[in-house]
Parts: sequence; structure tokens; C-alpha cells
Amino acid sequence: MKPVDPRSVLVIGAGLSGLAAARTLADRGLAVTVLETRDRVAEPWRSRHTALRLNIHRAFAGLPGQAAPHGDGAFLQRDTVVAQLEHYASGLSDRVEYGTKATRITRMATGWRVTTTKGDRDAANVVIATGRDRVPQIPDWPGRDGFEGALVHAGNVGDVARFDGKRVLIVGAGNSGSDVLNHLARHKPAEVLVSVRHGPAVVPTRVFGLPLHRLARLFALLPAPILDPAFRLTQWLFLGNLGRYGLTSHPDGGGTRLLRDGIAFAIDDGFVAALKRGRIRVVPELTAFDGKDVVLANGQCVRPDVVIAATGYRPGLEALIAPLGALDATGQPRAPMGEPDPDNPGLWFTGFRPIFTGYFDAARIAADRIAAGILAGAENRPASPVEAGNHVTGKAPEEALA
Ligand SMILES: Cc1cc2nc3c(=O)[nH]c(=O)nc-3n(C[C@H](O)[C@H](O)[C@H](O)COP(=O)(O)OP(=O)(O)OC[C@H]3O[C@@H](n4cnc5c(N)ncnc54)[C@H](O)[C@@H]3O)c2cc1C
Repeated sequence: MKPVDPRSVLVIGAGLSGLAAARTLADRGLAVTVLETRDRVAEPWRSRHTALRLNIHRAFAGLPGQAAPHGDGAFLQRDTVVAQLEHYASGLSDRVEYGTKATRITRMATGWRVTTTKGDRDAANVVIATGRDRVPQIPDWPGRDGFEGALVHAGNVGDVARFDGKRVLIVGAGNSGSDVLNHLARHKPAEVLVSVRHGPAVVPTRVFGLPLHRLARLFALLPAPILDPAFRLTQWLFLGNLGRYGLTSHPDGGGTRLLRDGIAFAIDDGFVAALKRGRIRVVPELTAFDGKDVVLANGQCVRPDVVIAATGYRPGLEALIAPLGALDATGQPRAPMGEPDPDNPGLWFTGFRPIFTGYFDAARIAADRIAAGILAGAENRPASPVEAGNHVTGKAPEEALA
């Protein structure tokens, strides 16, 4: 039996959440190792479309110990974010093990065992930072596999210029759907349809020329019953009555949906003007595919060349940690932002809760919470051996997560 250092931490994932946690924990004297499945940082950002800009203001795009880069104006460009993360990771380079995928996490009598593609690692603490948007979700619509056009997820659209001259149908007008619509509005697709069940809560990028997201700290202080009417009014004043164009309001307000359901706002950066000019048309919910056709909820058929599913993502954590009771029924962590989980001491999550100020700020808050929690726990726990066997179930570790 090998002794486990109570100050040892394995961080899984070298995205901004994992790196922020690693930097904060290392600065507080903890023995941190980051496991990253890819061979370099920022792969999720590199695969996003080239024209992407952050939807959060630069003021909230810093990381612990490193302010956000200057030069892009209020909203950082994708390549700037990639360079920012590369620079941040270089300060931790001796602590990041690239090309190492964590495949299973097992609770031991004291501490945790992480099974990886390069062997087992033991530590007193594990921080899971594998990303909320890891697995693109496309509903299993009837006839989907026989669709004769192209079907892509919004996370994989690449450069939207490739859709010039094409008939495009976007499914969903939430945060990622509106992002694709904003980009398409600047290009020349032959037709853009957007299929929605309910219209989203839409906020303008700027109000009187000022970035609205600069006020995110203020929004974060307000409860949903104040936020909901405030955002409805903002939408109506600055974007008009979108119901006239088919984008009806969701029964719940944008504040409620963010705070209760973790669903971010749709952000207008050009798509609303295109909607009003008739360059984007709203159609009912997609119900099925039929060869070249897409069938809508009102029975109408449309025939797009490309369907872009802006239908969300899953964290896909079940295979990694399923039997530990750390996930809710939807597969999201119960303690998503560095909160202690009394049933799983030493197991932490970061990067799984959208907040008004965005994921960078959430990563900072979670990192501070995790550091405080680990340091408090380490003071009460002497170094002790990692024992075979599962503390919760009494099963061997192999069985515990099979
Ligand atoms: C199209 C799009 C646009 C977005 N725009 C914004 C925005 O403007 N502002 C904003 O705040 N957020 C935005 N987001 C949300 C964005 O995902 C987060 O801000 C950010 O990427 C979260 O960082 P993260 O570290 O939590 O996760 P990720 O960036 O996904 O990083 C997770 C890391 O974990 C690694 N990993 C995964 N599984 C394993 C494993 N088993 N073992 C080892 N390593 C593993 C991955 O390779 C990856 O490097 C956007 C998301 C999408 C999809």
C-alpha cells in the first residue's frame, strides 16, 4: 500500500477550468498534476468556427493570475483565446501531462484512483474539469439517418462561409443557435430557416453602443423575479416585438432559465436585423426527416441542403464516475462549481455551471472554493495508505465503476 499525500490533486482536463484550478491550487502549495487527453491545450476552441468571438466582455475573460489580453476590443477573438490558454498553460507546463485520458475514477478507502490510458494514478483529491460541452447532442429524429442533405452539429460548423449559396436550416435558436445565425447573417446563404419550439430570451450585444455584458456583475446580484421582466423589457425596447417574426417568448424568463436550468441567453449580433429583413425565417419545430425533406410540426416540409443542429451538449460524465451519486438525473454534477460534495469528499467539479459573468469567472470562483475545501480537509487528514476496496460499496475498485 502506497501512502497518499493529503495535498495531492489530480485535475482532469486542461481547459480553462482545469488550468485555473491547477494554477490556484499550485499557488497555494498543493501537489497538482493535470491530465489532458489531447496533445495540446485549447483543442475545443480550435475546432470552433474561425469568426467566433467570446460572448462575455473582456473584463470577465481573465484567469487567476493572468488578465485578459488586450487588442481585440470588448470581445476576444477565438485565436486570441487559444493564445491566452497556451500562454497560461506554459506557466504550468511541468504539471500538465498531455496525451493522457482519464477513463475511470474509483473511490478508495482514503483518496481516489484515476485509471488513465497511461496507467493508474492515486491522489487524495480529484478535480473533474472535462467540460460541460464535451458531447454534442443531436436528437434521434425519425428518419435522421436517411436524410439526403448534410446534418451537422452547431459545435462543428467550422467557417460558415462554406454555406454561401446553400439553403440552411438551423434547429434551435438558443445560445449556440443564435451564434450561428449571427455569423450566417454576415454571409450569403441562399436561404436561412430557423426551427424553434419557443423563442429564446434574446439580449442585444450592445445597448447605446455599450457592451451589455459589462453589467454582468450587477445581473448576478439580482433574483430571477427581477431579472425576467428586466430582460423582457430590454429585449422589447432594443430588439422590438420578435413575436411578429415568429420568435415567440418562452413561458419562463431568461433569468429563470439561466439560474434554474443552466440555459444561457441568445445573443443578438446581427441576426435580429436579418430576421426583420426576411433574410432569416422562423419555422415550427422539426419533427422528422424524410429523404431530402425535413418535416415540421405543422406538417409542412422544407428541403434544406444543410441542417445545423443547435441542440446542445452533454458533459458525458457517466462512464467516468456514474456509480458515485455525484451526478443528477440529467448527467450534470450535483456540485458543479467547486462546492464540496459531502458524499464524495475529495471529488470536485469545475466548469459545469454557466453564470452571468461566464465560464472564465466561474472557473476562478470554483478554483478558490476547491482550494479552500482541499486545504481545510488536508489539515484534518494525515498522510495515509491508499487501500484496495471501495469505501462506499465495499466492492473492489474494478467493480465499483464497471
Ligand atoms: C461554440 C461555443 C462557443 C462558446 N463561447 C463561449 C463564450 O463566448 N464565453 C464563455 O464563457 N463560454 C463559451 N463557451 C463555453 C465554453 O465551452 C467554455 O467557456 C470553456 O470551453 C469551458 O472550459 P472548460 O475548461 O470547462 O472545458 P473545455 O474547454 O471543454 O476543456 C475540457 C478539457 O478537458 C479535456 N478532457 C476531456 N475529457 C478528458 C478525459 N477523460 N481525460 C483527460 N482530459 C479530458 C479536453 O480535451 C479539454 O481540453 C462556448 C462553447 C461553445 C461550444
